[in-house]
Amino acid sequence: MTRPVLASTEPPGEGVSQEPRLPGHIARLELPTPYPVGPVNAYVVFGRCLTLIDTGPNTDEGEAALLDGLQALGVAPEKVQQVVITHPHVDHHGGLDRFLRHNPRARVLAHMGAAPFFGGSPEPRLGFYRQWLREAGLPAPLIPAVLEGLRRLGELEPKAKPQRWLQDGDLIVMGDGTWRVLHTPGHSGSQICLYHESSRVMFTADHILPQVSSNAIVEPAPGPGAGRPRTLVQYLDALRRVAALPIELALPGHGPPFADVQALVHERLAMHAQRLEQLLGRLATGPATVFELARVLFPHADHGQQLVLALSEVQGHLDVLEAAEQVRPDSDALAGTGAGDPAAGALVYRAVDAARRAHGMSGGGG
Ligand SMILES: [Zn+2]
Ligand SMILES: [Zn+2]
Repeated sequence: MTRPVLASTEPPGEGVSQEPRLPGHIARLELPTPYPVGPVNAYVVFGRCLTLIDTGPNTDEGEAALLDGLQALGVAPEKVQQVVITHPHVDHHGGLDRFLRHNPRARVLAHMGAAPFFGGSPEPRLGFYRQWLREAGLPAPLIPAVLEGLRRLGELEPKAKPQRWLQDGDLIVMGDGTWRVLHTPGHSGSQICLYHESSRVMFTADHILPQVSSNAIVEPAPGPGAGRPRTLVQYLDALRRVAALPIELALPGHGPPFADVQALVHERLAMHAQRLEQLLGRLATGPATVFELARVLFPHADHGQQLVLALSEVQGHLDVLEAAEQVRPDSDALAGTGAGDPAAGALVYRAVDAARRAHGMSGGGG
């Protein structure tokens, strides 16, 4: 259980696997997590600036697997010069404090927007989520348990602070190469991808995953005074931006490396377009809250983190439709008369020009 899976730099067996091989100077460590997403990838980039990308979760099993994996590669933890955090989700950066106990001198780098998720308090965030869950129409009795889950996740964040804050376009040395930092917000507001232009290798982290579609999780504004970021709108923009680059090998935050980024992005965009149509179809029959729509699209996501992901997904699609002026929120209307009490303060979304759409004249397109 604590054994990491070392990614193959050996040839795949009997020609069955289509998984692309990693370059010799990069190794993937698959670390266990207690989360539904399953194991997470950390990477080692060998060379004069020995780099660890992500640390895995804040668990005994994750820590043991990371140390075992490094040992199997012949890397003593104190030889790691820097740790680059791809984004501040606890499956990726939760284990940072644990790693730094083995190597307190490693330099830590992360995107500047990630600052609140290193040694901060989850409290201000919880205030934001309380308000958003209310607006999303989540019935009041369900809100405390969701907030408690978010608080517990927040408590697993590291206390250590990065020494260097990255932003889009920065160049950093990892191994013997120079890598460009791409800020790709959406899944996380401070998500970065790392791109090596001449070899066309990219660490895509959770921005593009081969086996599951990334969630654009609703997050508070990065600074005071800013409104809630439209995370799925940002995400789709960043997805198209990455797909426009020549990439021969993508190294994701979960799952095996993959080669055809463009095809995968196409698949993801088609899935989102289909969801938008589905939501428009439902809204053509009458207004609804985010929660009511989430019940239709994701009937099994009824509690905890899964519920947050489902609400985020629907909120994101409504944001996209709102930006395209196809739906609008209406805070004056009451939540629908479906099951459960309409939550006070819920925003109700209605299709713009629903009558026209109901007669089969959907604009579509996504
Ligand atoms: Zn993530
Ligand atoms: Zn992840």
